[in-house]
Amino acid sequence: MSDVVAVGEQELVRKQLDELHARFGSFGEDQVVSYYPEDAPDDQRHFFGLAGTNIDGTQWQAGDCSVPFPLHSVSKVFTYGLALEDNGAEATLARVGVEPSGDPFNSITFDEVHHRPYNPMINAGALVAANLVAGRDVDEKVDRILERYRAYSGNPNLAVDQRILRQQLRSNDRNLGLCYVMRSLGMITGDIDEVVETYLSACSITVTAADLSVMGATLANGGRNPLTGERAVAREYVRDIVSVMMTCGMYDAAGQWANEVGIPAKSGVSGDIVCVLPRYFGFGVYSPGLDVHGNSVRGVALCRELSETFGLHVFADPADSRFGRVAQPTLPGDGGG
Ligand code: GLN
Repeated sequence: MSDVVAVGEQELVRKQLDELHARFGSFGEDQVVSYYPEDAPDDQRHFFGLAGTNIDGTQWQAGDCSVPFPLHSVSKVFTYGLALEDNGAEATLARVGVEPSGDPFNSITFDEVHHRPYNPMINAGALVAANLVAGRDVDEKVDRILERYRAYSGNPNLAVDQRILRQQLRSNDRNLGLCYVMRSLGMITGDIDEVVETYLSACSITVTAADLSVMGATLANGGRNPLTGERAVAREYVRDIVSVMMTCGMYDAAGQWANEVGIPAKSGVSGDIVCVLPRYFGFGVYSPGLDVHGNSVRGVALCRELSETFGLHVFADPADSRFGRVAQPTLPGDGGG
């Protein structure tokens, strides 16, 4: 990890992170938490956590980092990784593209030239990725997904929240519709209920912001979990996974995100965001209020500010004084980073 931040400076950085977290704590409070079931706890919308994990294993947290939430669309990143491993890059690309769609996450649109969904970060492509995961039946596929997610997070207790899964299966017309259209076009094969259940089970795996930061850090660390040393995905696929996060991870706001934040990331409708800064760290943000794209309002605002404050934008010139008070992407670490 970078040695740019001197030991004495680390406390200052931690303080800045706390301040950023506090500054955005009341931002967007009035935002509708549109995706949550009516019986969700009333205080749900107030949760706000920011956690980071450096590839050297150092961790930092601000706010609600141990509140569990379903991964929802953030799961698409990790299931795509498994699809790549199970099928290879070429066969996977034949079935799901890597082009931003510019459409909302659940839109029923396809890349008609290549006869496939645009990318695996929107529902159509994620359903194809679920279809590509190897396994005899749903149970085996979900077990394999869970095993991987546990390796990414280093948390052996990750599980599918069956209540959330059932809720999702009940209000699922759009995903079913997508699957029927795709099967009629030859883009998916086999049993539709199985595809949808595999996909929604991955969406229903619950994590905390702290878990999510480790999952991001595992990608930042070339696919090996920096805390446990376990490999979660083959190194050769990490580039493909992180690239598609950069171009497509924030739905139809991906362009603006790339411009303003400039960190590969993926959001989900529970208000979660995972960010991956290759070779440095991952962070996880959780705050349920959503904007029109389905991205966390406070999460996006906080990430924009984090990127500027610490100079994290992957394309920013370190000499540009607008971006960052330090020359390299750094966040606090033990004993000099
Ligand atoms: N489970 C959700 C769905 O498929 C995930 C959507 C999302 O996070 N954007 O509808």
